[in-house]
Amino acid sequence: MNGMEIIDISWPISADMTTYKNRSEVSVQETRTFERDGWRESAIALGCHTGTHIDAPAHFIKNGHLIHQTNLSALLRPCLVLDMTHVTNAISRADIAPHAQDIHPGEAILFKTTNSALPATQDFEPAFVYLDESGARYLAEKKIAAVGIDYLGIERGNPQHPTHIALMEGGVIIIEGLRLGHVRAGRYNLICLPLNILGVEAAPARAVLVRE
Ligand SMILES: [Zn+2]
Repeated sequence: MNGMEIIDISWPISADMTTYKNRSEVSVQETRTFERDGWRESAIALGCHTGTHIDAPAHFIKNGHLIHQTNLSALLRPCLVLDMTHVTNAISRADIAPHAQDIHPGEAILFKTTNSALPATQDFEPAFVYLDESGARYLAEKKIAAVGIDYLGIERGNPQHPTHIALMEGGVIIIEGLRLGHVRAGRYNLICLPLNILGVEAAPARAVLVRE
């Protein structure tokens, strides 16, 4: 454990944090205070897609796996952070293919984009950089274990959700809501564990990168 570097890539949870399409589902309340009660206690209420979270296949596939059925080993993996800050709209197959030599089956791929430069508490940015269907299909072909992006969604603008469906059907776990502005492209080990909430389609997670 000596000399191990741990980089937190989770979105901080707070009442004023950015939420998907400003649905503002976050409440953080003091229920006991030192002044009144002699100790401190708090209660939170969150949507399952708050901040850093995992989307289980059940989000968009009727009989898909629920979050408590997630294969956790897919989220404890060697991981490659790819710099996609040159992409202005959508990450496509053509943006990922030049990195083909570095993408190995069973790894996690995290996309660092200009989304990470957005403050964590501002209004939702509808024009966020996303992964398009061609990129999702390419990652599924590469048989990666998980993909992560640095905004609260991994796709936009298509009611059929082709990016999510291609990843879910390809067995690629989806991590949304990462913060990667302080992370350099390169190789790490990913640790990302969704809360074990029974019977739902997504759950918040703490995500870190570890490097020896
Ligand atoms: Zn989600």
